[in-house]
Amino acid sequence: MALAREELSDPLLYQRYLRALRQYKDPQEEQLEPSPGHVIRFCHNCGQRAMFRLDPEGIWYECLHCKHLD
Ligand SMILES: [Zn+2]
Repeated sequence: MALAREELSDPLLYQRYLRALRQYKDPQEEQLEPSPGHVIRFCHNCGQRAMFRLDPEGIWYECLHCKHLD
């Protein structure tokens, strides 16, 4: 399966990723839900909590940190 390179290099998407990571690290913000189609979970590939993005087909979650598909 080919990865959508354009989406991964989208600066807006990357900023959302960074913002979500900051929110997650702030205890007061921890209850906020990630943006739709995104979840924060433990990635077994890169070994850290990362933002995952549900792909357009709704089948795979992609780790935005290491691009691992789960
Ligand atoms: Zn990962």
